Formats: sequence, structure tokens, C-alpha cells
Amino acid sequence: MSTTQEYLNWLIRDAGLIELCHMAHGKLDVGWYDNAANLLHDARLMARSGNLFTTINRIDLEAIKGYLTEHRRVVPGKTCRTPDQAVTRHCRLFFDFDSARPTGTSSTTCALAEAETRAHGLVRRLAAVGWPAPAIGMSGNGWHLQYRTALPNTPEVKAQLAAIYSGLHREFSDDAVTFDRTVRNPARLCCLYGSVKRKGPSTVERPHRQSWIKIPKDWKQVHPRQVAALADYFARQTADRAPKRDARPVGAPAVSGRGDYTRLDVLAWFGAHGAYVGPLVGNKHGVRCPWSAEHTSSSPKTGSDSIIYEADGGWPGFHCSHSHCDGRSIRDVMSLWGDADAYCSGEFVREVAHV
Ligand SMILES: [Zn+2]
Repeated sequence: MSTTQEYLNWLIRDAGLIELCHMAHGKLDVGWYDNAANLLHDARLMARSGNLFTTINRIDLEAIKGYLTEHRRVVPGKTCRTPDQAVTRHCRLFFDFDSARPTGTSSTTCALAEAETRAHGLVRRLAAVGWPAPAIGMSGNGWHLQYRTALPNTPEVKAQLAAIYSGLHREFSDDAVTFDRTVRNPARLCCLYGSVKRKGPSTVERPHRQSWIKIPKDWKQVHPRQVAALADYFARQTADRAPKRDARPVGAPAVSGRGDYTRLDVLAWFGAHGAYVGPLVGNKHGVRCPWSAEHTSSSPKTGSDSIIYEADGGWPGFHCSHSHCDGRSIRDVMSLWGDADAYCSGEFVREVAHV
């Protein structure tokens, strides 16, 4: 295993500046560091409660100057996070295999082992197309892969990452393990390895665990061409599978059900999942987001941060304004719950071509 100091040395070398985040008792404290020893010193002072995270990509110092305190250290109550647009370069491709578990709890040993198997499967899959070895981490509740890279934060790279993460999500997610396709945004946080991950109460079956990472001796970068080739592979796969009617945007999951989703009773469906909150205006309704456990801030009572739209000719809609849910649509909810067909008043009838 690598020490936290070694991990931070690599991160300073590649990213230059690191944001450290301490989340405890529903509060967030943030600071920025260009020195691994200073970061480690401050992290140790806070390590006894909550959870510690850092950024993994290169931040433009000029872009966040307004936020920096004199010493850049974590200041209690300082809650401004690094915005995505302040990141100039992706230094890591971060892949997260999360074990399925009840909201707000830690993983069982068995579920964690399943996530490990999945993570090693991806290492083999990418090694087969020439990718170098990644750092492999245990986050406390799941397994991480960190591939070193150097990709500019551009719309082109954003589209490549969207294709890769949703492609890997299709290949590696099921009921037991989720490949988290949301962890691709430039200012994404990752746990500070060496710190303890605390989710829910620590029990014999679901203990809090100390995270760790193992960095390869010769941690090589994945070439931008390799990243582009993988993105291209998944983008073509998506184009091949997309139904002709209601074309699916890149990154959205395939929906294979038989229901006519223009006749999906979206209110009854969310109601059945205990996720309906109440009407807003027009055809909009507040709901409890199916991924609310991933949100970093709490929801207003009206549920206006997460909404559904009743169908108006096409499919009904879903939108959540939390950054963790960026890009998620009604298709993601269908894929998550898998029972939308039962709430449709009819089956989808494919048009038969007349020859
Ligand atoms: Zn959400």
C-alpha cells in the first residue's frame, strides 16, 4: 500500500494545487494547498470525525483566487468548492465501483468483495487495449481505479468522458455493484486515501473502514489517443443501439421496456416509490430524487430541486438540479427502478415498414 504522503506527492506533481474538503455533521469546510505536507498536517487535525476528500485534477490558481484565504488553509465554515470551469486539465481518470447498499450505510464485506472483482475486471479490460496500470484504491465502501492522464478541460474531452463513463456503466453496473458514471466532472472530489470513510453507524456487519490506495511503481499516463479511441468505441456502440424513434442522447441508458412511455403515469409511478412530494406549477411536480443519498446539500420541503414533468405529447421528464445528478433523465430513473412498464396505459407499438 502507498502512504497518504506518496499519494499527495503524485497529486501535487500532476495537479499543482489540491482542494481539501472536510464534511462533518452536515457541514463542509474547504481549503486549497500546493504543499503535500501542509495538507496532510491539516487533514490529520480533522480526521477524527466526518469524511475527508480532495480534488484530483489541475486547478487554475487565478480562477479561484477570490476564494483563497491568506494561508489557503481550511477555514471552518468556508463552503465554496472549486467550480468545474476553474479546472484546466484532467490529471486522473477516476473510476468508482460502489457496492449496492441501503442509503446512508457502509458496505458489507461481501458487497465490497463484489465491487473489487468488478474493478479488477475493468483493469484487465483496459490492459487488453494497451492502457497502463492504474492506482487501485479501496474507498471504504467500494473500489476505485485512478488512471493518470493529461487531458484539457474542453467540450471535446467532456463528450469523450461522457461516452466512456456511460459505456462502462452499461458494461459493469448491475444490482450488486454500480459503476458511478457521475464522477467524471472536472472538480470531482475523491476520498483522501488513508482517512476513514464514515457512512451511517459503524456496525460489525457494516463497519467504517480506513481507505487506502496502491500506486504502481511506474505510474504511466494513459495517452489522450487511447482515451479518444475508447470514447469512440462506446459512442459507436451507442449509435448502433439507439432506437430510431425517440433517439437517445449520448450517455443516457438504454430503455428496453415494452411500455408506451408517452402514456406513462409518472405521478403514480413516483408515488408508488414513495418519491412524490407535491405539485409545483403547470405540469411540474416536486419529487424526492432517487439519488438523493448522493446529494451534498439537503432538499427544500417542496422538492423543487428535483422535478418531474407530466408527459405533453412525448415522454414525461425528470430533472434534478444537484450536481451529482447532472445529465440524468427519466431514462436513468427507468433504468434504476426497472418497473416503468407497469405504470403505462399501453404497450409501445413499433411501426412496421410497408414494402
Ligand atoms: Zn438528484
